[in-house]
Amino acid sequence: MAIPFFKEMRIGGYILKQKLLGRKRYPLVLMLEPLFRCNLACAGCGKIDYPDAILNRRMSVEECLQAADECGAPMVAIPGGEPLIHREIDQIVKGLVARKKFVSLCTNALLLEKKLHLFEPSPYLFFSVHLDGLKEHHDKSVCQTGVFDKAVAAIKAAKAKGFAVNVNCTVFDGYTAEELANFLDFTEELGVGVSISPGFSYERAPDQEHFLNRKKTKELFRRVFALGKGKKWSFMHSSLFLDFLAGNQSYHCTPWGMPTRNIFGWQKPCYLLGEGSVATFKELMETTDWDSYGTGKYEKCADCMAHCGYEATAANAAIANPLNALRVSLRGVKTEGEMAPEIPLDQQRPAQYVHSEIVQSRLSEIRKAEAEAKVQKSATAA
Ligand code: SF4
Ligand code: SF4
Repeated sequence: MAIPFFKEMRIGGYILKQKLLGRKRYPLVLMLEPLFRCNLACAGCGKIDYPDAILNRRMSVEECLQAADECGAPMVAIPGGEPLIHREIDQIVKGLVARKKFVSLCTNALLLEKKLHLFEPSPYLFFSVHLDGLKEHHDKSVCQTGVFDKAVAAIKAAKAKGFAVNVNCTVFDGYTAEELANFLDFTEELGVGVSISPGFSYERAPDQEHFLNRKKTKELFRRVFALGKGKKWSFMHSSLFLDFLAGNQSYHCTPWGMPTRNIFGWQKPCYLLGEGSVATFKELMETTDWDSYGTGKYEKCADCMAHCGYEATAANAAIANPLNALRVSLRGVKTEGEMAPEIPLDQQRPAQYVHSEIVQSRLSEIRKAEAEAKVQKSATAA
């Protein structure tokens, strides 16, 4: 397992403490999106489809650090958009590391080599480089040639300077088990751990045809894990999450496990679905109708098997049944035989489409604030 022992111990200790305190719902990873602007436009991305007025907004350093303090999760993932575009990303990372948060800075790596000097290697900092496959596959996935080569060069440069680096791979339909296994062999040669997840079917992603459904996801991962027997692929996941991907666990998601803070506020209910936002983490936890989300409950959740929804479930399952987790770690993921029962979808509520409404309301707020600032500036100048 690629997760350093020290990090694993700290996180295990945090989970045990929450259990002892009798907390039913607690966060594991803060998903901090300080901006939505990106220097790529990937076909499967559901995060950057906003008007310029929103893409130009940034969370301040203070807002980012306050979010981490408010939430209290031991880990902070910084996706985006592309976080390295944020002019104060170094200060955000520095402030989080000073708080002893494990920071995973998720980047497409186009700016990584150029900006490495802004950061210092630390056991608390990880660069998580977006790499969806080998050269041809990745460049197709990000809709731009040459990105794979730049990302690999940046990974090597970061490793040479002593930074911890892993890659995050999103899997879409059309990827064969053999291709994925070849990619995992490559990550082994590169000496990086892998975070892997089936792509979530974002309603606003330009490419709607290549999202995997649950059945295909489980079959694909079974074939991949069968090809990986005896290899030393290094996954940044718990053994039970991998077991879930291979169809051996019937888990319900834990959307509060990885709460999301972005320029809209705290996003309801999870990183993948934006169905409104609230001003504080407390409000998010107390006012979200958690029981109305998840596979079998809500149409948009039907095919979700993403790590941000289920890694926290797997972590809880490992604490509840450590022997089961140990068994999977020692014997490997089961790749044959019957799968665990699937959650029935016949009672799920229909999808609600609220994105345009949310964007319009945020745009009105931005315009109002800009108009007020203009009036104030004129008054000061007069
Ligand atoms: S690099 Fe990430 S944030 Fe940027 S377009 Fe691609 S998926 Fe979206
Ligand atoms: S299944 Fe859970 S984690 Fe996935 S989109 Fe729905 S609420 Fe979010």
